[in-house]
Amino acid sequence: MAGGGGLSVATTVPAFRSDAPLDRPLARAVSAGQARALAGLGLHTVGDLLRHYPRRYAAPGTLTDLAGLLDGEHVTVVAEVVQATMRPTRDGKTLLEAQVTDGVGLLRLGFFAKHRGALRYQEHALVPGRRGLFTGVVSSYRGTRQLMHPQFTIVGAGSEDEERARAESTWPIPLYPASKSIASWQIRDGVRHLLEPLGEDDVPDPLPAAVRATYHLPTLREALELAHVPRTDTDWKRGLDRLRYEEAFVLQAELARRRARVADQAAVRRPPVTGGLLDRFDARLPFVLTAGQREVGAELAEELARPHPMQRLLQGEVGSGKTVVALRAMLQVVDAGGQAALLAPTEVLAAQHARTLHALLGDLAEAGFLGGAEQATRVALLTGSQPAAARRQALADAAGGRAGIVVGTHALLSATVQFAELGLVVVDEQHRFGVEQRDALRAKAGTTPHLLVMTATPIPRTVAMTVFGDLETSVLREIPAGRSGVRTFMADAGRPAYMARTWALVREHVDGGGRAFVVCPRISSDDDAGDGMDLLADDDGPVRRPLRAVLDVAEELADRPELAGVQVGVLHGRMASDDKDRALAEFAAGALPVLVCTTVIEVGVDVPAATVMVVLDADRFGLSQLHQLRGRVGRGAAPGVCLLVSRAEEGSAAWTRLQTLVETSDGFALAAADLELRREGDVLGAAQSGVGSSLRLLRVTRDADVIDRARADATALVAQDPELTGWPALVAAIEDRLAGEREEFLDRV
Ligand code: ADP
Ligand code: MG
Repeated sequence: MAGGGGLSVATTVPAFRSDAPLDRPLARAVSAGQARALAGLGLHTVGDLLRHYPRRYAAPGTLTDLAGLLDGEHVTVVAEVVQATMRPTRDGKTLLEAQVTDGVGLLRLGFFAKHRGALRYQEHALVPGRRGLFTGVVSSYRGTRQLMHPQFTIVGAGSEDEERARAESTWPIPLYPASKSIASWQIRDGVRHLLEPLGEDDVPDPLPAAVRATYHLPTLREALELAHVPRTDTDWKRGLDRLRYEEAFVLQAELARRRARVADQAAVRRPPVTGGLLDRFDARLPFVLTAGQREVGAELAEELARPHPMQRLLQGEVGSGKTVVALRAMLQVVDAGGQAALLAPTEVLAAQHARTLHALLGDLAEAGFLGGAEQATRVALLTGSQPAAARRQALADAAGGRAGIVVGTHALLSATVQFAELGLVVVDEQHRFGVEQRDALRAKAGTTPHLLVMTATPIPRTVAMTVFGDLETSVLREIPAGRSGVRTFMADAGRPAYMARTWALVREHVDGGGRAFVVCPRISSDDDAGDGMDLLADDDGPVRRPLRAVLDVAEELADRPELAGVQVGVLHGRMASDDKDRALAEFAAGALPVLVCTTVIEVGVDVPAATVMVVLDADRFGLSQLHQLRGRVGRGAAPGVCLLVSRAEEGSAAWTRLQTLVETSDGFALAAADLELRREGDVLGAAQSGVGSSLRLLRVTRDADVIDRARADATALVAQDPELTGWPALVAAIEDRLAGEREEFLDRV
């Protein structure tokens, strides 16, 4: 909303003047009351209103099924007037009572007024046999459903001539997203009124004529007419198809322009060096690389050797071994005289990465230390909360070039961090890094460094193309052999026997040398109850049940007979960073074999001995998130178990969703299922928050072919005209629609 707010402010600054009809403020185009009501829907200019598309279209011939109406519902129904009568009431007022029908049932309409004359309009309009749209709140009167004082419009009324009125009554009826202060038909009338006087020149079209011609698409002016004032169903479908394509095209044009800009920049070539660190690392690797790791590795090796910056997104199934792939790329850069920065979203993860790299590299990471290999580098760790001496050392190693690899969190971005020769930036678990971060890191290098972004969550192809469309994508699907995998089960939180069994299972695993995560949706039961409560249907109606909290559960587990003598640790985002590290280290070492935690462990935590994942209130988490959590166990030789504990009733929507997870172990399939099941905006969280306002018709789940075509067309256009200078309307659309969203999602990486 921040972006939208900024735009609307601009239109009300007195100095602002634009002759473009679409930029005209609604306040000057419609009545003050309507302008206020439309502003409530986020519509401020004529252009905004014309881009406010109908949600659906009612067929003029089909009336709304009146039997389906519920008391209290705010509805718009299409019905035919059966009769209307006017009579005085006992207290001296006038009541106009009408009946409308869907052909089967009846709906009562009532209008009270002090004087008969005040109802003249209704009296004239509500003629038996006419059809109309009636908007109001459903109530009941003596067992009959009614709308009191509905707003209404008679289909075809208001037209000058009878002929046109009759014709209009056969047109599909657009139904708009409306509000209590403005009804769908009022929006429709407003849109028609503002659209009518506009000519082709008043509505600049972002789509080049050649592209339109390829697909026989209407112009923007025509498409708006087809969408808002359709004569037939074919009309509105054709209009919306074109508008949908345009959304994809505008976005893809911007992404293509970015790719072209980066491809044009210079980067330092970092070709592989025979006999370097990478070769020596490969020679001592304790496992065989998977085919996928080798393939992606070759791709990266080749791109790092080019004189233009690599821009690559590496998507990997959980546990597919992305870290090793990244490390090999980093070593190639170090061999070629550069440094690599590895950015992690949390301190826990940064510290873990540093430990992992040290373990994998051994003496290759001990340059200048006794026992270090002759040809070696250093891995430096930089976090916000490390002791001053360690930080000073790390800063000096980064600035002096001694550290070939610098691992860190956001602390890496601060002005005090300098690199001697930054050649590669690796961003792990990308969702939490934004544009400023990337720019800050880039500013630390003389020329644009190569970029590798790794995602924690598999992203369906179309989403990747939309949200990360300025990056080339590689995928690691394969899981290294020798993993025993994870079996997933559901457990009913309402049944004490199930919970006893759950904790007994945890006990068995701990006794066998395993570790167990117990994940809760929140930290403490003292937290804001608003968000921490779950609505639960009970015999007495809905009751609010608190969600399970880390601190409570940890206490409870300490008292469970099944876990007697087992040490229970906690880990959550509110702990000091040292305490977090210690908790995780003690968990990994087995001193605290049960760790009650929040989703801080969701991304990337790698404890090979962990075998059990218990998720409490599992229905509160997204599928992809649960898949990530599940991916934390079964990473070693011992098989993992994941228990999804919830109160979801068998057969309910929540239960079915969790069942998907029981049945599917493919993260890509789950991500796609997640996308189907939830609103798209939620799936990608903040990453896609901005897309909602620019993508109104386009659905990344459904419209893969539209996105594919738009991407190809936009890329071709940018190839001819990299800055789109010949296409001002397209550039304006990019500015207009993607302003403010850029920070939010286009530059996520
Ligand atoms: P993710 O892709 O989820 O980030 P990691 O990089 O953390 O996965 O790797 C998971 C585990 O698999 C690590 O312990 C890593 O050492 C191990 N691993 C990586 N590649 C292989 C391989 N080819 N064979 C066996 N184990 C591997
Ligand atoms: Mg990882």
